[in-house]
Amino acid sequence: MTRNTIATIDLQAVNWNFARVRQLAPFSAIVCVVKADAYGHGFANVWRALTEADVLAVATTGEAQLCRGLGWRGRLLLLEGPANRAEFEQLLGLDVEMVVHHETQLQMLRQRQHELRRPLWLKIDTGMHRLGFPAADAQEAYKQLSRLQGGSQIILMSHFACADDPDNPMTLRQMQNFDAATLDLPGPASLANSAGILNYPDSRRDFVRPGIMLYGISPCRKKTPDDIGLRPAMSLYCDLIAINQAKAGECVGYGAAYTCPRDMRIGVGAIGYGDGYPRHARNGTPVLLQGKRASLVGRVSMDMITIDLNGHPGAQVGDRLTLWGEGLPIEEVAPWADAIPYQLICGVTARVRYEVN
Ligand SMILES: *Cc1c(COP(=O)(O)O)cnc(C)c1O
Repeated sequence: MTRNTIATIDLQAVNWNFARVRQLAPFSAIVCVVKADAYGHGFANVWRALTEADVLAVATTGEAQLCRGLGWRGRLLLLEGPANRAEFEQLLGLDVEMVVHHETQLQMLRQRQHELRRPLWLKIDTGMHRLGFPAADAQEAYKQLSRLQGGSQIILMSHFACADDPDNPMTLRQMQNFDAATLDLPGPASLANSAGILNYPDSRRDFVRPGIMLYGISPCRKKTPDDIGLRPAMSLYCDLIAINQAKAGECVGYGAAYTCPRDMRIGVGAIGYGDGYPRHARNGTPVLLQGKRASLVGRVSMDMITIDLNGHPGAQVGDRLTLWGEGLPIEEVAPWADAIPYQLICGVTARVRYEVN
């Protein structure tokens, strides 16, 4: 028997979402973020729907190699910048553009062997305090970089900490810090991730950097993909492999953590944390069966989950369960596992079969 634990990837949805970004930011070039294997959707699948991207962005050199290996000849950006000189030279060889966020990378530039043919992205920390030159040092970093860049363009960039929350004043403060720090500096600018694109039109600038929205997931707690005009690209399914009876007072699953409050039909689904379904999903986490929600009961195991089927008298072994995606938004599922959708999609493991359509 084949295990029908499947993630379907809808490339038309990715393409649609890309077009939605174009619509929202018609005057910006689009940097499509495809790090973490295209947010768990499989870069090898997804990039064919993103061939109109102005730039693709990844987080690691391995990911950059994969992009080039699969045949992406366009602009490619490493968001974190190189960690050491060997990596730096390797990236130049792959014709990858780099983020320069630290003095150590200026040193690599001073000692480089390869010619720089591509723009450099100067990252300025405007308040997130993760990567970037402090805003107060931006002018000096720019001066040094322009001495080293050998005629290639410098793109000014920063990253938002709170753009998913339009009520948080942090994002406007970050934009003000950016504008003050880069005053008089020539060069295009790039600030917005998906949430910035949606919530802060003034942050769109010359390059936008959408990630999550390309996959049809809302970056904002208070907005659904429908509200924003996005179509989810991933759906996750498994089969019901058993249906059992349990009496009131009997327990279900590891730790005997769930006690049946009444006589119950318990369905067993063929998916678990070994497939990337979150182990912390609580009792009550919704799954979809025959178009209707059912609830998880008991702990998630490595290979299986258990479901309350009392509301589904017609359920049969072999029926398909939807864990998220079509008919069951991942935005609704994630909070039940104290997770965010980003985490769930990136967590789907290689044991799951991918079907691309
Ligand atoms: C991941 C990432 C993005 C994309 O963020 P989303 O929230 O997925 O749109 C943009 N810029 C940088 C620097 C990133 O690391």
